Amino acid sequence: MLDLFAVTTKGGIVLWKTSDSAACQKCLQVLFYEAFLSERRNVENSFHQGRFTIQFQESIQNSIVFVVAFQDAKAEAFTQTLLNSMHNVFINLFQEQLQKKKLPTESDILNNFVPLYNAKLAQLSKVSEKEKNNVQETTLLEKPKAPSREKSRNKAHASRQAPPTSKKGKKELRKWDDQLTSEEQEALNYSGKTPDVAPTSSQLSNVIGDTNFQKTKKGDVVIGDLEADPNQNPSATSSTAFSFFSGLIGGKYLKEDDLDPVLKKVQEHLIQKNVANSISLELCKSVKKSLIGKKVGSFESVKQTVNAAFRETLTQILTPSTSLDLLHSIRAVQKNEDRPYTISLIGVNGVGKSTTLAKLAYWLLSNNFRILVAACDTFRSGAIEQLGVHVRNLQSLKGSSIELFAQGYGKDSSFVVKNAVEYAKKNNFDVILIDTAGRRHNDQRLMGSLEKFTKATKLDKIFQVAEALVGTDSLAQAKHFQASLYHRPLDGFIISKVDTVGKLVGVMVGMVYSVRVPIVFVGVGQMYSDLRTLSVDWVVDQLMK
Ligand code: GDP
Repeated sequence: MLDLFAVTTKGGIVLWKTSDSAACQKCLQVLFYEAFLSERRNVENSFHQGRFTIQFQESIQNSIVFVVAFQDAKAEAFTQTLLNSMHNVFINLFQEQLQKKKLPTESDILNNFVPLYNAKLAQLSKVSEKEKNNVQETTLLEKPKAPSREKSRNKAHASRQAPPTSKKGKKELRKWDDQLTSEEQEALNYSGKTPDVAPTSSQLSNVIGDTNFQKTKKGDVVIGDLEADPNQNPSATSSTAFSFFSGLIGGKYLKEDDLDPVLKKVQEHLIQKNVANSISLELCKSVKKSLIGKKVGSFESVKQTVNAAFRETLTQILTPSTSLDLLHSIRAVQKNEDRPYTISLIGVNGVGKSTTLAKLAYWLLSNNFRILVAACDTFRSGAIEQLGVHVRNLQSLKGSSIELFAQGYGKDSSFVVKNAVEYAKKNNFDVILIDTAGRRHNDQRLMGSLEKFTKATKLDKIFQVAEALVGTDSLAQAKHFQASLYHRPLDGFIISKVDTVGKLVGVMVGMVYSVRVPIVFVGVGQMYSDLRTLSVDWVVDQLMK
């Protein structure tokens, strides 16, 4: 009945949500833009987005927002009560932390808030089912006995509508060591057991669109760049920040005094695009350097000069790499070390790790590599099955050169990855793509296990999948992830959901600048073909719009 309940900050940090679906993600995105990110609030506390009704309630003092989204009109009978109740519960539970301007961690929320949410939702849904119109708000004074940490995690994840597991009950076996009995190991070993039902052609058409792969002379299949908006007429300059420079044309030699007021406007424009102050200063400095003492005749020539200055500075900041670099690196390991190449994806839950993994697999399969997908998210219910679905789709699209390696839930991920490497060596796989548990960057326990994971196996590449949408949280995420790797840097970002980014492009630039990690790929949609390499032209285009 209810499609989404979420607790977020006004800045766009999602603290907890019940659904990872793209439609719900879109609801949150619209809410952030329309209610909090744009200069003025464009929506009421209840509004419509496509087929969804979105309602939200703010805790103004704490900048926390409670959101519901639903399609079923019956839900409306209780959503306001649910929002009120959960608002009160949340503030009561985490009052002390919030007063100290600290946000509760995901485990705090899962252990303390989620059981109360589930209880309240069940109660209200029941009442609404019986069509009792006057839903009386009941207080949650009597707190149910706090469930154990693991139990509440399972409950929370179950409420995210994870697909059912093929092995009933196995999800309960959560252990954080690798001390499983041999029977348990056998029962939990899902290797090669991808779901039996082949996807239909209409299911496959949902996962694959037009690729923009290009073939090099040597036969390598490379991923194309993000393209600047082809619909934007380059001469239609009045709507872009380039128009600030129009007053400088006229054939005189430009002096600092001419440029400073214009560059001030450009800087303000960049800050509105969420570009950090230091970066906008650097960009404006480079423009100033390239224009000072010059005589600019036409608008086109000033635009070209500004463009080139931006390009140069942004190229240094973003250090974009090509997909060919990765292909060369894989081939070098094959040739010189004769072992499978390992690529691990890390990141917060829901950012798009498994979808990105499938996109990478699709591209690598197009280069005729044999791929082993290692399911090292042994924690989130349904994570292995979700990967199984991707592998099954890819097998239908690309043949049997891809396989799933999974050893079930509850195992230590460093143990699973070691076994995956052994399995890949024995069975001649070229590349292992490793999915890891999503973790919030401020969850000490899971971040600690990431250190152990990266220490256990030589990983050729560790890419952090980060969502373009999450705003300033990305930066904190990137710093924490970087710090949690064992004696090694992150090799790159894969920024997902760039198709939804709009105003937040500056955050992406800031993130790269601050941790000095390049953007290797960007995701531009939910299909396997929606992977691109970053183009500096695209960034300039977005920033100057
Ligand atoms: P994980 O929990 O990190 O493995 O995340 P998933 O791979 O399950 O992705 C979460 C949601 O984000 C899914 O609905 C994906 O379809 C969606 N998603 C992933 N990448 C992109 C992208 O580049 N663009 C858009 N619009 N959605 C994406």
